Amino acid sequence: MQKLRFFDHTLPDLSQAVKGFGKEGFRAQQLFRWIYGQHIFDFEKMTNLSKDFRKEVSSLMDFELPEVLQAHQSVDGTTKLLFNVGAGKSVEAVLIPRREQMTICLSSEVGCNMACKFCYTGKQKLQRKLETWEIVGQFVQAQRHLGLDRRITNIVFMGMGEPLDNPDAVFKACEILQSEWGYNLSRKRITVSTSGIVPLIPRVTAAGVRLAVSLNGVNDQIRSEIMPINKRWNLKELLDACLEHCRETDDKVTFEYVLLKGVTDSLADAKALYRLTKNIPCKINIIPFNEHPDSGFHRPSEQAIVEFQNELIRLGSHVLRRKTMGRDIYAACGQLTTAAKAKAKAAESPAPL
Ligand code: SAH
Ligand code: SF4
Repeated sequence: MQKLRFFDHTLPDLSQAVKGFGKEGFRAQQLFRWIYGQHIFDFEKMTNLSKDFRKEVSSLMDFELPEVLQAHQSVDGTTKLLFNVGAGKSVEAVLIPRREQMTICLSSEVGCNMACKFCYTGKQKLQRKLETWEIVGQFVQAQRHLGLDRRITNIVFMGMGEPLDNPDAVFKACEILQSEWGYNLSRKRITVSTSGIVPLIPRVTAAGVRLAVSLNGVNDQIRSEIMPINKRWNLKELLDACLEHCRETDDKVTFEYVLLKGVTDSLADAKALYRLTKNIPCKINIIPFNEHPDSGFHRPSEQAIVEFQNELIRLGSHVLRRKTMGRDIYAACGQLTTAAKAKAKAAESPAPL
C-alpha cells in the first residue's frame, strides 16, 4: 500500500484518508496540531494519540520534508535556505525579518518558463513544478530553523517560479498553512505574485489571498519586450483582471515595478505608471534592479531611483520602495536560481550591499 504524504494534505483530506484507514478522523486534527502547531515530530511525544495509532502512523503516512542543503545568513538579517529537490536541483526560500514580522519568500517551481528578460530564474527553463508537500515543506523547515520563539507571520510567493503556472499545488499549500489546527496564518498575510497569467487571477480571488502583479512595463511595447507573457495577455487584459479582483475582495493589489536603467526608469515612465494604475486600488512597489551577470540590464543611479519614486508620490500614488535584502547571499528578487555557476560566483564574489 502506498503511504500517504502528510505534508500534501489539507485537514479535511487527511481526516478522510485517516478514516479510510479505519481510524478515527480526529487523529488527523491531532497530528496537525502536534506537527504544525507544536513542531513535535516524534510520535512518542504525541501524548493524546493512542498507543496503537502511534505505532501504526509511520507505516500509514510518510512525513518527508525537503532536505535543507544550506542555510546562509546575510549581514542584513535575511536567511536563505537551499533545499534539495532531487536530480541535482535545488530551490530556495528566503526569510526576511522586519520589525515584529517575519516574512518567508517561497518558491513554487524549479526554474521558470516565463522567460522575463531581467530575471535570473527566468534564464533557466522550467525543470519541474513543485508538489504541495515541497512548498509546505519549505515553510516547515524554515520555521524549524528559526525555532518556535520567532514565528513566520507572512508568506510571499516571490521565490523561484511562477505560482500561477502551478496553481493547484500553490493554493493547496496556502490552504494547509492557513489551517487553524496548524500555523493558523491569515489569508491576508499570504501574497501570490504573478507575472500576469490573467485567466488564473480569479483563483487568487477565490483563495482569498492577496494579489501582487509584476507590472514592470508601462505600455505593451516595452512590457512585451521584457516580459514575453505580455504577448499572450496584454496590459489592458491584465489591469482589467486586477480591477475585478479588487472589486470582489475589497483588497488592494500590489504592483511590482522593476527599475531598469534606461528601460523603465524615466520620469515619463513614472507618469505613465501613475496613469495606468490610478483607478485601481493599489500600492506600487518599486524594485531597483538587482544586477546579475550577463543580464544586459543595469540598476539606475540612486538619484534616478529617488526621483522616480518622488514623481509617483507627487502625483499621488501609494508607492513603496522595496529594500534590497540579501544581496550578499544572492537572495534578492530575481537572483534566485538553481544554476551552480551563480552559486559558485556568489560564494567567490559577494555582490556589494
Ligand atoms: N514569478 C512571479 C514571482 C517571482 S519573481 C512574478 O514574476 O511575479 C518576484 C519579483 O521579482 C517580480 O516582481 C519580478 O519582477 C522581480 N524581479 C525579477 N528579477 C529581478 C531582478 N533581477 N531585480 C529586481 N527584481 C526582479
Ligand atoms: Fe518567472 Fe517571475 Fe522571473 Fe518572470 S520574474 S521569469 S515569471 S520568476
